[in-house]
Amino acid sequence: MSDVRRISIFGATGSVGQATADVVLHNRKSFDVQVVTANSNVDALAELAVKLGAKYAVIGQEEHYKALQNVLLGTGIHVSAGAAALIEAATVPCDVVMAAIVGMAGLPPLMKSVEQGCCVAIANKEPLVAAGTHLMEAANASGAKILPVDSEHNAVFQVFDDQQKKTIERIILTASGGPFRERLEDELEDITPAQAVAHPNWSMGAKISVDSATLMNKALEVIEAHYLFDVPANQIDVVIHPQSLIHSMVEYCDGSILSQMGAPDMRTPIAYCLGWPSRMPTSGQKLSLNERISMEFYPADLQRFRALQMAYDCLDAGQERCGVFNAANEIAVQAFLEERIGFNDILRVNAYVLENCEKFSIKTLADVVNMDNTVRTFTSAYIDNIRQNSKKVYAS
Ligand code: NDP
Repeated sequence: MSDVRRISIFGATGSVGQATADVVLHNRKSFDVQVVTANSNVDALAELAVKLGAKYAVIGQEEHYKALQNVLLGTGIHVSAGAAALIEAATVPCDVVMAAIVGMAGLPPLMKSVEQGCCVAIANKEPLVAAGTHLMEAANASGAKILPVDSEHNAVFQVFDDQQKKTIERIILTASGGPFRERLEDELEDITPAQAVAHPNWSMGAKISVDSATLMNKALEVIEAHYLFDVPANQIDVVIHPQSLIHSMVEYCDGSILSQMGAPDMRTPIAYCLGWPSRMPTSGQKLSLNERISMEFYPADLQRFRALQMAYDCLDAGQERCGVFNAANEIAVQAFLEERIGFNDILRVNAYVLENCEKFSIKTLADVVNMDNTVRTFTSAYIDNIRQNSKKVYAS
């Protein structure tokens, strides 16, 4: 790999994408930006493409092609649009790809990036949850290096000694517990989207913020950890750590627990991935130890945080249920953000779908995609049904 790294950023206009751009701009001479992508945000994409000196700007929704082309006229930046263009963009030669699209929509370009055999920094956890086996097998086949961006998995990656894997007793994922950690389920019935997306420690996109509030994010992370590190579910624990300073830990058989610590700022794990195996500076927050800091840890109660129990049950059942869980959740979160269901309904919908949706035979990636589409239809129909039958929160 040369000193200057060719980088593509998928989902460049999102929270992780913007933080990635910030790291790149802070280390300007180390990167040559190839591709930046977005879904519909033309202005932010065009601005980033120019600022980063990207060669290609790709917009997911085809109807925005003309607008993007107009804004970038005369810049020399090549413009394209649509789902196929996103996949094609993943074939542009690169040293490192940042996969920061949200949801299963990121799967096709992510898989294509992995097939190219370069370093792939994955923030986009949903495809890992639904197609973890396929993605890791594709990485083994192509020689791609998978680098976890999620702060918890990035922390584990930093202290996980592959050579000593047999001596690892467990991965301990830390969870802030989200904004409603201290509140009982009954008190959450009327939580609004605005309240749910206001995370106490992290500034993130809407979907992951809601997932953090329901603890679904931690549930998805348990599954993500299983696929990334090839560790069974019974060796992955979650502890509540409200301060989000220790980003996760690995416990070894001699009783040593190694952890990574830092301010809750995504630029740290992003820089770790972009520079790997070297480190690079960021303009992010630094944790000052010159003042008094308290840190608490306590076990996550699986009865209270039901999403976590669902994740363990899904892992016991296999990748197919993990994919069902993910698809149901994406639809339920969207319905909550559109105020079509209440906050507590997100987990109710997930539980119902896990219990009642048909079982799928998953062999190929196409099977994963078909399963995902079917579960989305099933979940949407169920949500329409509960809306019609409910007299309270669902009425819009
Ligand atoms: P955001 O919602 O902030 O950004 C999502 C990005 O994906 C935007 O660039 C958006 O484009 C693009 N996008 C959305 N839908 C599509 C689509 N259908 N096709 C193509 N592109 C699409 O999300 P985050 O940055 O918060 O999260 C991204 C991923 O990273 C998620 O999987 C999340 O779980 C994970 N993650 C996020 C963290 C965070 O701190 N935010 C931390 C750890 C993991 P547009 O702007 O045009 O809508």
